[in-house]
Amino acid sequence: MSAAPAYLMHTSARQPVAFSRGQGALLWDSHGVEYLDAIAGVAVTSLGHANPEIASALAEQADVLLHTTNMFRIPWQEQLGERLCRLSGMERAFFCNSGAEANEAALKLARLHATARNVAQPQVLVMENSFHGRTLATLAATGNPAVHRGFEPLMPGFIRVPYDDIEAVRQVAANSPNVVAVLVEPVQGEGGVHPASAGYLQALRQLCDAHQWLMMIDEVQTGMGRTGTWFGFQHAGIEPDVITLAKALGNGFPIGACLARGKAAELFSPGHHASTFGGNPLACRVGCTVVDIMQRDHLPQRAAVLGQRLLAALQLALAGHPEVVSVRGLGLMVGIELNRPCAELVDRARDEQHLLITVTRGTTVRLLPPLICSEAQIDDIASRVTRLLSSQA
Ligand SMILES: *Cc1c(COP(=O)(O)O)cnc(C)c1O
Repeated sequence: MSAAPAYLMHTSARQPVAFSRGQGALLWDSHGVEYLDAIAGVAVTSLGHANPEIASALAEQADVLLHTTNMFRIPWQEQLGERLCRLSGMERAFFCNSGAEANEAALKLARLHATARNVAQPQVLVMENSFHGRTLATLAATGNPAVHRGFEPLMPGFIRVPYDDIEAVRQVAANSPNVVAVLVEPVQGEGGVHPASAGYLQALRQLCDAHQWLMMIDEVQTGMGRTGTWFGFQHAGIEPDVITLAKALGNGFPIGACLARGKAAELFSPGHHASTFGGNPLACRVGCTVVDIMQRDHLPQRAAVLGQRLLAALQLALAGHPEVVSVRGLGLMVGIELNRPCAELVDRARDEQHLLITVTRGTTVRLLPPLICSEAQIDDIASRVTRLLSSQA
């Protein structure tokens, strides 16, 4: 395979491997070599590759109706909206095609909320080290200078504080009357797998109530069972005003959603927001099938059990490892932070261990296995990672 694809823009540092088929947590490359997938397309294929029920839902719906437009009612969209609302405590859904678009919808809700409150120069409180997407608004919300670089001037209207630091939020509440909303991840994924501490989201909820801020939770990576509950915010026992979903919602079929409750659920009216593809019958049928399978097979609970197992195995095996700073996670979102840059581990894991991993923020190995992994596959991931970190480059 040549060094880089000649006719594609250089938006990704692509590894020199292409997969031709998959099954559950396994992938095979074009030479037939088998790999264990501990990335799941970055928290997307939670139900595994080539899931037969997803394949049937796609094929059946493709045979009947792909697209109509939101000028008409779409029963599959209404069904998916209701099911996601019942699972999350939200009241209304807007469907789109990606995580960034889901966050765009949330940010537009924040602007309408500001308009309703007569705040002319509104600000949304966002976090250092966060990730919310690559569109111009969501990259401005993202707390990573590397994502901003070259795209200035950034969209204004954000104010940033350190993550998981409630004192910093109190300071903003005391000094910045133009804040109308907060956008936060329950576990920072791209930012290096940092779960918020127990009381943080609860304290944030109280501040949002006290100052009429919309509490907007980015569940694009943490949602749909990944952290051991349907949604990451549920660990804190709070009710947000807005949540955003994408990644695992379609198990690889593109779909995103912005859900809201209370006043936030009533802010959009016709003309405010729309998406041509968003919520089409095909995407929503797949989304309903994903929910069906996750409910029937108790996959959020399974993610909690498997996540504990993976975390415990890694913590035991890596205890005292001279390079390992911390092994942390929530459900099947696990990070191993090293005391050195370790981007080369991605290639070594693939070539030496036939294991697919990612490294975020340069120093943290991130594991996002599919929720349908067997116990044996989870143990296998732990031992391959341990072997990888124990062998010299
Ligand atoms: C992946 C991700 C996004 C962006 O989703 P896209 O579908 O790539 O636009 C937004 N927020 C979080 C937390 C993510 O992990």
